[in-house]
Amino acid sequence: MDLKIRFLGAARSVTGSKYLLEISGKKILVDCGLFQGLKELRLRNWDQFPIPPEEVEAIIITHAHIDHIGYLPRMVKGGFHGRLICTRATEDLMQIMLKDAAKLQEEEARFALKRGYSKHLKPEPLFTIEDAARVLALVESYPMEERIEIANSIQVTFHNAGHILGAAFVEMDLQGTSQKKKIVFSGDVGRYDDPILYDPKLIPQADVLLVESTYGDRLNPVNKVSDDLTKIIREAVDQNGVIVIPAFAVGRTQTLIYYLHQLKQAKAIPDLPVYIDSPMAIRATDIYERNSPYHKIEVKRTNGDRVSIFDSSNIHFCNTQESSKALNDIKSPCVIISASGMCTGGRILHHLYHRLRNEQDIFLFAGFQAEGTRGRAILKGEKFVKLFGEQVPVNCHVREVHGLSAHADQSELLRWMGNLTEAPKKLFVTHGEESVALNFARIIRQERGWESIVPSYLDSFELFKGI
Ligand SMILES: [Zn+2]
Repeated sequence: MDLKIRFLGAARSVTGSKYLLEISGKKILVDCGLFQGLKELRLRNWDQFPIPPEEVEAIIITHAHIDHIGYLPRMVKGGFHGRLICTRATEDLMQIMLKDAAKLQEEEARFALKRGYSKHLKPEPLFTIEDAARVLALVESYPMEERIEIANSIQVTFHNAGHILGAAFVEMDLQGTSQKKKIVFSGDVGRYDDPILYDPKLIPQADVLLVESTYGDRLNPVNKVSDDLTKIIREAVDQNGVIVIPAFAVGRTQTLIYYLHQLKQAKAIPDLPVYIDSPMAIRATDIYERNSPYHKIEVKRTNGDRVSIFDSSNIHFCNTQESSKALNDIKSPCVIISASGMCTGGRILHHLYHRLRNEQDIFLFAGFQAEGTRGRAILKGEKFVKLFGEQVPVNCHVREVHGLSAHADQSELLRWMGNLTEAPKKLFVTHGEESVALNFARIIRQERGWESIVPSYLDSFELFKGI
């Protein structure tokens, strides 16, 4: 058995996760994410896929974030018709995420056409709702910890990675004619001591390891979240302002609701209305109930109805455009949570357009903002941001809560790798901006004495030959 790997994304960048394996001629892809952020990265989404998509036999998905699944509709459009394998909760989330992303793509193309700010005569969406539906028809989902046969001598197992509901790291076992080998793909590693998700499982052993490095250069303590949030919410209430938080409707939104609920119970903050503004704003309770082994949230049955903290009376879902637009008129303190999480598209753009100019309002970042995104520009302190072809001044307050990130920080990434008693034969540091990934590779050398590779886009490596 021979094995090669090619890095088709998340190599010296954070988005576009795609790792192509060639195992004795068989082609398997791990993750199939969209590039986001810098234009030079986003343009890659329109490039031809390096091999004909129909040659890929299986795609294994670690979790339902768009930078790990958002390229699937393009793959299917390009001819992919193989197996698409993920965990049960990832399937549930993928249904919402892909349809939502497609809807946003279509809306944006229509809007650009109407307003005439696109350079293209007829702006096209990257993919449509129909393309997304074709992806969903291919999904095969499995529980965590079950060995899944991909081919005769290839098996994979999903293990809990924390991060978001259903997120897994992938253990791939290969049986060669003379040797067994194990490859581990970290996916995105979550946090330890998260209030909603269980700790990431430790890695068993690995001949080859790919480890993400989003926050490989810093420490983000979880224990400061309540204090930081209290301060920011009180600040908004004192200045009679609205707090806008970019985040997708499932995932960080529930973590935020959890903290707001705790703070309200402790009387640290007043009882503010919380608006979840997404075209697919759903009662997350159903998804959390179906996937109860993978989180700590209690879902009760009251008169046959499922109820959890996500159903509190102060939480409102804006499914329609009218209810979303009505939020622009609110002039008293409240929390608005809207997607996309990095302000690259979606309804959050309308909130940016209306709120950035208001001195009393607060934009609160609760997740990673990739290079080249509007979110990053605002966070960096840009005075103007381009929205719908117009330069909008940033007069509002901009705040950030680090501990809410769904990503392991440097110490947690090392902890996750802590079970490995010896160096993997090959260790790749991926899914981090260039300087961060290089920095994390240096930390690994310092802490464990292991050499690692920080691959670049389209680099390929021979992993095993004749095993
Ligand atoms: Zn992720």
